[in-house]
Amino acid sequence: MKFFREVLLVVLAVAAAILPVAAVLAAGEAEREDRVDPAEGSLLDIVGASIEQREHSVSLETRFHLRAAEAFGAAGDGSTVCFTFVRQRERREICAERTRGKLIATRDGKRIAATVKTSANLLVVRASDAKFKLSTGAYDLSVRSNAASCDNATTADRCADRAPDNGAYNVRVWRVVQTGCKVRGTLEVRHGRRVKQVALTFDDGPSRYTGDVLRTLDRRNVHATFFILGQQVSSGKSALRKMMRDGHEPANHGWSHGLMGGGGPAATRELKATQKAVRGVTGYTTCVFRPPYGDTGPDLRRRVRALGMTTIIWDVDPLDWRTPGTGAIVGRVVSGTRRGSIILLHDGGGNRSQTAGAIDGIVTRLRRRGFEFVTVSELLRYEPVTKLER
Ligand code: ZN
Repeated sequence: MKFFREVLLVVLAVAAAILPVAAVLAAGEAEREDRVDPAEGSLLDIVGASIEQREHSVSLETRFHLRAAEAFGAAGDGSTVCFTFVRQRERREICAERTRGKLIATRDGKRIAATVKTSANLLVVRASDAKFKLSTGAYDLSVRSNAASCDNATTADRCADRAPDNGAYNVRVWRVVQTGCKVRGTLEVRHGRRVKQVALTFDDGPSRYTGDVLRTLDRRNVHATFFILGQQVSSGKSALRKMMRDGHEPANHGWSHGLMGGGGPAATRELKATQKAVRGVTGYTTCVFRPPYGDTGPDLRRRVRALGMTTIIWDVDPLDWRTPGTGAIVGRVVSGTRRGSIILLHDGGGNRSQTAGAIDGIVTRLRRRGFEFVTVSELLRYEPVTKLER
């Protein structure tokens, strides 16, 4: 049962015992009789069902009247329990099936990699929302069981059951929202591991050029990291929200773009104020920090880590802020990039139309060389902190 206790968020828990429901709903005795589950006492008599979600992992559970492992054993090969999710034109059927003595899972008739477990009266099918092909939002859920062979197979009713008896459970698959990350390892980095990944980073925004940058990144399906100045947050709220929606990483660049390498309490105040401002708009707590001008030092590094962040420098710098022309920016980035590179660009602090214009070329040419674009915290393999949201 340990696994169940570890589930952090119970999205829905319906353990609808059939008789109590009937007692509430039924007006007369005859009706009450009718509502008694015809499968009562049969092998795969279902008492209730629920769905639980922890990050992208979804557990579908059904509770039987009998011990699940024994019931499935007696019910024979070919016996199934199916969870049917319906909304508008979308329909998913996820089944656990006993085949040659083993329990396997299928989605819409095709076998999928999922964990199927029985424990006491429970049967649990667990996989990622992607494996189940369940998208965020509300569904109607019903569960059916079918025993291939029954103890008492005089009527088909005794071989099958459905929960709920009528209608469906209203369930919801929640959106997984990242709210931060857990940093580890070295206090300061210039590049990631030498794998075929790179991180595009943009400093000094949000500014009037950030929208252009975001549109291009979105069109090319690239996730980047934005080192945000605290003092720019109040005028750049909508850009920040879009950044977050599109899957980019908001990051910390201090408050006012002063030199911070000396550290001291003033540095901590800037870091904290920026973290708070970004969190206020995006709900995300920054876990990477870039010192303005790359001005760093041991006291600053410790203060950054004390706030749950890592100091990020760079290993590719095309000097885009000097506006050398879009072609030069693309050329310098492409020739300087290695595996695991962190590429320094700017979306604020001046006219950044050349930088915005260079993104397309950078993406095309680095993808041609086999690079994948990731955020800085992904490049550094930091564990995401997430929450579930409607
Ligand atoms: Zn800067």
